[in-house]
Amino acid sequence: MAGNFYTVQCPDCDNEQIVFGKAATEVACAVCGATLARPTGGDAEFEGEVTDTVERRSASSVQSDDSVEAR
Ligand SMILES: [Zn+2]
Repeated sequence: MAGNFYTVQCPDCDNEQIVFGKAATEVACAVCGATLARPTGGDAEFEGEVTDTVERRSASSVQSDDSVEAR
């Protein structure tokens, strides 16, 4: 529930970057420097399009079927 990461697509250069869902500071695009997320005190507000959600425990191996629990 808490602590998910999101893949956010930069609105300026289409770079996809993984952003922590509760980012406490502004997150800038690593390629062009555009702001991708702003802190709100809770969940960050994303400037770009969220193209994927990455659960914390599987952050290193993204699975398309998130309804199946890994064993
Ligand atoms: Zn960018």
